[in-house]
Amino acid sequence: MTATAPRIAVGGFALESVSFLPQETGLADFESQACRGRDLIEGLAGTASVAGGFLEVLSAAQVEAVPLVYSDCSAAGPASDAAFEHFREELQQRLAAAAPLDGLLLFLHGAMTTPTRPDPEGDLLAALRAQAGPDLPIMVAFDLHANLSPRCASLCTALFGFHFSPHVDMAETGGRAARCLLAKLAGRQDPKLALVKVPLVLPSIFTATALAPLSDIVDRSLALPAEVSGVIDASVFCGFAYADTPDIGFSVAVVADGDRDLARREADKLAAMIWQQRDALLHAELVQSLEDGLRSAQDLALRSDRPVVVLEHADRLNNSTWCLGRLLKDAPELSVHCPYFWDPETAARAVAAGSGARISVELGDKTAVRSGGAVSAEAEVLWAGEKRFLGRGPMRRGRQIDLGPSALLRIGRHTLSVVSLCTSAIDLDALEAFGIDFAELDILLLRSKTHFRAVYEPLAAAIVIVDTPDWGTANLSRLPYRLVPPGVYPLARSAAPGQTADEPPLEPPQEKTGNA
Ligand SMILES: [Zn+2]
Repeated sequence: MTATAPRIAVGGFALESVSFLPQETGLADFESQACRGRDLIEGLAGTASVAGGFLEVLSAAQVEAVPLVYSDCSAAGPASDAAFEHFREELQQRLAAAAPLDGLLLFLHGAMTTPTRPDPEGDLLAALRAQAGPDLPIMVAFDLHANLSPRCASLCTALFGFHFSPHVDMAETGGRAARCLLAKLAGRQDPKLALVKVPLVLPSIFTATALAPLSDIVDRSLALPAEVSGVIDASVFCGFAYADTPDIGFSVAVVADGDRDLARREADKLAAMIWQQRDALLHAELVQSLEDGLRSAQDLALRSDRPVVVLEHADRLNNSTWCLGRLLKDAPELSVHCPYFWDPETAARAVAAGSGARISVELGDKTAVRSGGAVSAEAEVLWAGEKRFLGRGPMRRGRQIDLGPSALLRIGRHTLSVVSLCTSAIDLDALEAFGIDFAELDILLLRSKTHFRAVYEPLAAAIVIVDTPDWGTANLSRLPYRLVPPGVYPLARSAAPGQTADEPPLEPPQEKTGNA
């Protein structure tokens, strides 16, 4: 450590990549989420983000945070190689300019892919480690859905994962990493990391950490530091099933004080617990077919005085029409709302027509051929304009939410908000920003995986999860993996929900070129 007060660099570059989506996440997408310099410090302090946690701990310890660059693009298609190169170079340049430093705090997702890089986080950490030298402490916070490579683990000093999905502890995770770094700099701790992979992957829908037995596994990881002397921290990573990478799947990271063997032994025990529970973790019973799910949702909505949440979880771009088209046709008597439908063309037409206008719309069918086809309708424009506001939900508190040109449309008794910038609806902001009252609805149609549970699980009469052929299907045997090694459970078999075991996987379809 330098003789003066420590200087800690703070940065982030995060994306959860669905490798199979044809739309790349480009430089402009990352730039739209990027902050630097004072904007990073002032814009992210106090937010629910990982950086919010880094900054809170550094500020409380009166340690100087040196901002690099921070961009979290959430979930989308693969990062473009150009975008990866740009941010790798920028992080390296800013790291060089920030010297002398005592440590680096980074947020990476862990499930980014690019067309040519199955392990971009490993490539980025290799570049930063080569530049910083072997001794600079580099603490990295990763998403619970990281597909961690052993190479990543070998390049950081310690790593930390969100304990929960919904990710309500992003800032706390940043705090864990920052506290460990400060303890190391002060000589109070000597963190040693062990990472153990488990050849198991779950559809994201089953990674809700309140679901047993995943809840028991997470509870065990939470209890470790108190119960096992010398353990500093433990994280369970569920992996991300929709990123095609050799490192797909679960892993366990344990950080122990000065004792890598202890970290390894405890990580092995947790990994064995996960492997033992592999069948129970695959909750096939939670997912229904499109037809069965929508029928039961309509029945429940008619009998209940609270809204039913229908989850079209396989949609990765917020523009699938499998459920919307059927609900418009089969349930015209119900009040259905679909928030954040991503359709820039329709949003632009509604904005041009203005509030009060009636327009013909062709919803969807603008990106992936698996997204359900176009839905034609006559719509009334209830509101249209630019939509931007400050997030208030448990995961987006304090963050600017920018939806671009947007509109609230009414089709019969159904309403939908149509947006130009793709983001998923996970909290009440998505409704309230357009004046929709959740309690007044019969059915709310969402495309979240687990994050919606933080808000809607206590409010909804029921959550009905339907599977569709889209890119986020619960039937992993339908996905055209190329890089996943043999033996990752359950990919070697095809007994996913609603499918017969001998059904052949679909060939990768020809996609339209994207506009993401
Ligand atoms: Zn995640």
